Amino acid sequence: MIIVMQSKAAKAQVDEVVGRIKDLGLKPHVSHGEFRTIIGAIGDESLLRPESFAGMAGVEKVMPIMKSYKLASRDFNAADTVLEVGPVRIGGDCLAVVAGPCSVESERQLRDVARATRDAGAALLRGGAFKPRTSPYSFQGLGEEGLRLLRDIGGEFGMPTVTEVLDPRDLDLVIRYADILQVGARNMQNFRLLADLGRIDKPILLKRGPAATIDELLMSAEYILSEGNHRVLLCERGVCGFEKSTRYTLDLSAVPNLQAATHLPVGVDPSHATGRRDLVTPMALAAVAAGAHAVMIEVHPDPERALSDGPQQLTPKAFQHLMAELAPIAQVVGRKLQTQVKPNT
Ligand code: PEP
Ligand code: MN
Repeated sequence: MIIVMQSKAAKAQVDEVVGRIKDLGLKPHVSHGEFRTIIGAIGDESLLRPESFAGMAGVEKVMPIMKSYKLASRDFNAADTVLEVGPVRIGGDCLAVVAGPCSVESERQLRDVARATRDAGAALLRGGAFKPRTSPYSFQGLGEEGLRLLRDIGGEFGMPTVTEVLDPRDLDLVIRYADILQVGARNMQNFRLLADLGRIDKPILLKRGPAATIDELLMSAEYILSEGNHRVLLCERGVCGFEKSTRYTLDLSAVPNLQAATHLPVGVDPSHATGRRDLVTPMALAAVAAGAHAVMIEVHPDPERALSDGPQQLTPKAFQHLMAELAPIAQVVGRKLQTQVKPNT
């Protein structure tokens, strides 16, 4: 249930509502907007009687929420959430490009990619250290050594970092190194992991599962938000369809569809969605035209020799071309492209 307070509601009246929510055994979430305060009651709604709140002093209206997500919904927060990660903003009218290899493979590989992508206009550096591979015999990532390289090289180029946390048991380790923690598509409904991520103080990049609906993605985000972490970036990365010529089917309508339903920023990963280098650039441009707040692109200095996802990784040169085409589209749709302001390396 969402309780909208009158614009002139006194603090004591807000406290009174919060107290009643707590007395009923639910968790209050107070959001102080520019004009009014909105209070969410998180937990079993059947314990609440809307009429009893509607009559309280300072309350303007009470909205029972039948959706299975509340904190993620636009009803709860009409304004776009803008994530701040170091100097980079994601959401609202800000667009950030995340670039980097599928897997961190070596210091040289990552430094080459970081330099080239930063110079071309990427704001954030990605790289997997714990890889979700379909076969247990495929390269699984460098683990802590990969995290260390990502942190050090991201720092060298002033790029905040994104990496996947595959298992709740690795969480303490990954938190120490990364700026944004990614939940991979395969883990979108790993609810224990999501709840753990809700209790940390770092932004989360939550990928849509290949067989998940928009509502299911938002309910997964709700697991993170309801534990107290409100910094979530959603990411469309393709869904399963019948088409075999691409790895997945990129659902670009997910961008405006999600943006109508939620205030959270929405990104697109055309690399994993298409699995094909030749389709990455056109789909990245389309994602920006559709209003994405972030685009994630895999880049490798020598994709033919990549230890994972070679066919979809762009060369640094191709990435540079992508960025040259993307910048004017961002401008047309009113997005401020976030770039590193001080190239120093
Ligand atoms: C990734 O970004 O490294 C990745 C494995 O993506 P996804 O979870 O979307 O497959
Ligand atoms: Mn990959």
